[in-house]
Amino acid sequence: MYDLTSRDIKYVTGVGPQRADMLNKELGISTVHDLLYYFPYKYVDRSRFYTINEVDASMPYIQLKGEIIGFEAVGEGRARRLIAHFSDGTGVIDLVWFQGIKYLLNRYKVHQEYMVFGKPTVFNGRVNIAHPDIDAITEAVPAGLGLQPFYNTTEKMKRSMLNSHALEKVMASALKLLQEPLPETLSPQILQEHHLMPLTEAIANIHFPQNVELLKRAQYRLKFEELFYVQLNILRYASDRMHKYKGFVFGKVGSAFNTFYNSYLPFELTCAQKRVIREIRKDLGSGHQMNRLLQGDVGSGKTLVALMCMLIAIDNGYQSCMMAPTEILANQHYETLKSLLCDMDVCVELLTGSIKGKRRERILQGLQNGEVHILVGTHAVIEDTVEFHKLGLAIIDEQHRFGVAQRARLWSKSVSPPHVLVMTATPIPRTLAMTLYGDLDVSVIDELPPGRKPVATIHQYENRRAPLYDFIRKQVDSGRQAYIVFPLIQESEKIDLQNLEDGFERIKTAFTDYSICKVHGKMKAAEKDEQMQLFVAGKAQILVATTVIEVGVNVPNASVMIIENAERFGLSQLHQLRGRVGRGADQSYCVLVTGFKLSEETRKRIEIMVRTNDGFEIAEADLKLRGPGDLEGTQQSGIAFDLKIADLAHDGQLLQYVREVAQEVIKKDPQGELPENNILWKQLKTLRKSNVNWSAIS
Ligand code: ADP
Ligand code: MG
Repeated sequence: MYDLTSRDIKYVTGVGPQRADMLNKELGISTVHDLLYYFPYKYVDRSRFYTINEVDASMPYIQLKGEIIGFEAVGEGRARRLIAHFSDGTGVIDLVWFQGIKYLLNRYKVHQEYMVFGKPTVFNGRVNIAHPDIDAITEAVPAGLGLQPFYNTTEKMKRSMLNSHALEKVMASALKLLQEPLPETLSPQILQEHHLMPLTEAIANIHFPQNVELLKRAQYRLKFEELFYVQLNILRYASDRMHKYKGFVFGKVGSAFNTFYNSYLPFELTCAQKRVIREIRKDLGSGHQMNRLLQGDVGSGKTLVALMCMLIAIDNGYQSCMMAPTEILANQHYETLKSLLCDMDVCVELLTGSIKGKRRERILQGLQNGEVHILVGTHAVIEDTVEFHKLGLAIIDEQHRFGVAQRARLWSKSVSPPHVLVMTATPIPRTLAMTLYGDLDVSVIDELPPGRKPVATIHQYENRRAPLYDFIRKQVDSGRQAYIVFPLIQESEKIDLQNLEDGFERIKTAFTDYSICKVHGKMKAAEKDEQMQLFVAGKAQILVATTVIEVGVNVPNASVMIIENAERFGLSQLHQLRGRVGRGADQSYCVLVTGFKLSEETRKRIEIMVRTNDGFEIAEADLKLRGPGDLEGTQQSGIAFDLKIADLAHDGQLLQYVREVAQEVIKKDPQGELPENNILWKQLKTLRKSNVNWSAIS
């Protein structure tokens, strides 16, 4: 059988070394296999030709057949363009190019028959087609005139004439290379049972479908396969783990837990907190290693749940660690835990990059000899040469930034992997959760502590600053605190920082009688902490910040969140930011400040924010608006394999379906040894090998 994976694309007709290099650099395509799996992003019906006398500028992409009756180069400098007068006997239309004039004149001849494809527009009062695709009739796509594929290409590629159309031709020659069928990647049973198109047929039809029906079947087959392996991978991995590792048994609940519960717990747990703690306790005592995702909207009280689980670990003679994505958060967790534990005999230590020297050594030693019960830190904790005496439980806060591979690294910290609890405040749409954390059991805190009032969210245009400042003043005068957040992204970092500084000055001028502090990601850790502490301690009334405060910061007295340039934030980010207020008993406010000019999508985002406080609704909307690729952190946390064709926003049902198919396979074949599944396990292995994230695990 063919080994297409290894065949270099430069041998495909129409590619050659130069284009091969470009395809490799621009699209990461280096083999025929890569090429065939580079799918079109849209299709256009080319099943009929129009006549020139029918054409008007309101038409979408159309195709014509005829000949060039003459060329004309007009204009100077940037306006210089080549016009080809194109006729089909019913009329004449102008084809216009602003680039590649020399090439075009060389390539295309008058009085020869061509197919022209493009979008009619009006230019200088006449209908014409700018930068059309143009082909000799003989070069027509081999599949004939079905649906024409369109491929994404980069600017660089377009500049060297490797546009979608050129890629289409390359694709056609690659398909011609297939003398034999491609090795099938799904088992005959699965193909049959689910009425799937064979792979080779699907690949041919995804590029050159004769009709919509065939295209749909090809898409279904390829999406099925893609999602199936994502699920098979994650479920296989969970099942192996179940068989391979025994969990530490935390059999008892002892004095640490009980003392805290009876004498130190500052409030009644919510029903949801109680239920979740019960679920976790059951896992911890089961003899299986726990891998659980704890989802709870911002402010739902996850930290407390985490603490109580760590107390159970202590009662059973084990250490715990709790990791946060930033130093600020690690610090805050440390402070929170210390103050909750009060004078209890529990040793909590903080370990971050900025803790050095003697102090660090002392902590490391305490971890090794078991004196330290709870270690709070940043993710650096697992990278470092940190050794535990008996690590039994690892808690990861804000999982969105913490990938599967990193999770796996935790295991090397202990003879046997510790129980793992992943906490996330960002509600994850179900489809995404199944894909990213499909190996985890899920607990949900779906209830906020009593007395919380939903945050009132208001949209405000940026020219109405005076009433906005009045409003802040009123709140602060009544003893509250306010956040004012500015966007900061890497691409426009300089301008963004300047905006923040300007804003800071403006606010200082407007509020001379208040103390104002400032935090952003570019500051030194010590300075950041100092400023943050001013706000936490209530010494500063207004905190001007970038999104460093996005996750986890807890200042219950803060009741106002002003988000400047709100149009530049994604939905989940806005929701996270809003979650910083509404943590106390007072009515809180979130003001989204934007300019007048807003895109439709931005308007939708703002509307959703104003309408609802429900994190799950927001997460679903976010997925629909932006698509999963853009969801914060997905890249790092790594969907196991890149999704080339399936789309988590729209293929939720299929995902659920294939998950069940994958579950069935694993149930029947837990050891992966049934011959009928050979194809599946082999393919899974190939996929895992091609993915760095996963190689870290097996
Ligand atoms: P998150 O889930 O966002 O991490 P936190 O753990 O930071 O939430 O809790 C938010 C706030 O709610 C904290 O001030 C915490 O002390 C408080 N809190 C947690 N549980 C309860 C409860 N059962 N009753 C009242 N307040 C609570
Ligand atoms: Mg938290």
